[in-house]
Amino acid sequence: MNDDDGPQGLDARLAEVARLREAGDLAAARDAARAVFAAAAAAGADDIALEAGLACYALDLRLGDHVGMLDDGALLRPRLAASDRRRELGDLLRRMVLSACELARFDLALTLAHDSCEAARDQADDRELALSLAALGACFERMGDAWQGERLMSEALEVALRVDEPYVRMVVLNNLCAVCIGRFYRMRGVDDADAQAAVERAVVHARAAQALLPQLPDPLFGVFVDGNLGEALLHAGRLDEAEPLLHDALARSRAQGFHAQTWRITCSIAEAEIKHGLLHEALARLDAIGPAAIAARQHATLIRLHQTIYRAARELGDTYRALRALEAHERLERERATRQLRAQSELFVTRAETDRVRQEALAAREHAQRFRDEARRDALTGLANRRDLQEQLPARLVAAAAQQRPVSLAVIDLDHFKRINDRHGHALGDRVLVSIARLLREGLRHSDVLARVGGEEFVVVLFDTAPDLALEVLERLRHRVEGHAWSAYAEGLAVTLSIGVAHAPGYELVPLFERADRALYRAKAEGRNKLVLAEPGELR
Ligand code: GH3
Ligand code: MG
Ligand code: MG
Repeated sequence: MNDDDGPQGLDARLAEVARLREAGDLAAARDAARAVFAAAAAAGADDIALEAGLACYALDLRLGDHVGMLDDGALLRPRLAASDRRRELGDLLRRMVLSACELARFDLALTLAHDSCEAARDQADDRELALSLAALGACFERMGDAWQGERLMSEALEVALRVDEPYVRMVVLNNLCAVCIGRFYRMRGVDDADAQAAVERAVVHARAAQALLPQLPDPLFGVFVDGNLGEALLHAGRLDEAEPLLHDALARSRAQGFHAQTWRITCSIAEAEIKHGLLHEALARLDAIGPAAIAARQHATLIRLHQTIYRAARELGDTYRALRALEAHERLERERATRQLRAQSELFVTRAETDRVRQEALAAREHAQRFRDEARRDALTGLANRRDLQEQLPARLVAAAAQQRPVSLAVIDLDHFKRINDRHGHALGDRVLVSIARLLREGLRHSDVLARVGGEEFVVVLFDTAPDLALEVLERLRHRVEGHAWSAYAEGLAVTLSIGVAHAPGYELVPLFERADRALYRAKAEGRNKLVLAEPGELR
């Protein structure tokens, strides 16, 4: 670590990133931002690391560096998630989707797009959902499935129209336009009517997106939208409108250093030149961007580039050049198709597996929860058991003690239960216990505590009930049991309860219980079927 790595040094280095960016040296700015990110991460300066990561990502976007976007994005993603910056996280995921598509890494693209859609649905966030559906649609379009792409994009537009935000609408409309242009390329020469209809739709969407531009300050949006509109107009045969727009967009794209857009717009301009018969000019223009575009390994751009070179060379009668371009184009298309198939089949398998793993995890969690629940339940009556009582009571007693609120604890024991078992059998004894549990539960409020703490012994704890009222409630329980139609269970059966009650103060569980238990002993001694109040506890 050097002297610059203190918080102030890192701040100064971030300022330098901003300065380089302002100066238009995007590549240097991005390198500097990466260095700040690494230093801040090493120093544990999370805020600065986050800011540097965001700067890298913004710069990757402007540079059109898709490899950089995926690398920087992978580092930034967990940091955005950890700081709960959901919107920015969604933004990042979607940019990564587009970069992964651009690099023909469709498996990654689909996974990221699905993640993004799921997060948006979880959060019921229409803005995020519209943008995520658009990203998913873009994946399919790039994989060659223009139909699914347009369907998803239209769904995205429906959601976007519910969101009052020009940016969201612009993005979705611009994507819809791109999908339609993609369909045009796919159908051109296969079904020209379909291709032409697609390009007309592209024009409509792009114009709608363009109308939103005045509300959006970022020059990148204008380059994107105008580039797409120009491309759509070109293929719609409106060259007079297309050309000035494309040249203007190209100048802005170059000035801003937006490489990917620059290449794409260059291809469109070359297509226009081919239409004018300016074949040498077109080829020269394409040759000029070739090496950089090839070095950037951007699939979609390269497909477009080779296709345009092929058309120009063919028109020129340069069969050898045309064939080479066609071969390169065909190889890239085959690669795209293969990767598409692999991505879709892998995603399908992965999703099925994920679902299974998720189901298993869920079942395991439920099982563990049931196990924990059972450990605190009495199996015969379903009431809480002694263990549950010991776990939940102390905290509630402490809370009651803090405000000196009333608490009454009763120990309830069945009278001569051994005799009942002896006379009527153990099974009937069990039925009696179950019935007692129900009678007690029904005679209490939900907030009152009821537990079976021994064979034929129960505990009731009443909170926030005045002592006299508590005695009334417990007396009612005793009457209720005494008056129950026990003879229906067995001839001559009678069941009664003895109850010992202690009131707080004296909020500690064990002393409270012992006082109630001593009172119970007296109730038994005084003839049973009786409630006895314990002597007062200590005043604390
Ligand atoms: P007392 O009035 O003095 O409480 O007399 P008692 O017979 O109720 O008390 P004692 O403690 O002598 O006997 C309790 C009996 O409760 C003994 C045992 O067989 C019975 N018992 C305990 N648990 C269960 C149970 O789960 N089911 C059944 N059927 N009987 C049980
Ligand atoms: Mg007993
Ligand atoms: Mg008993």
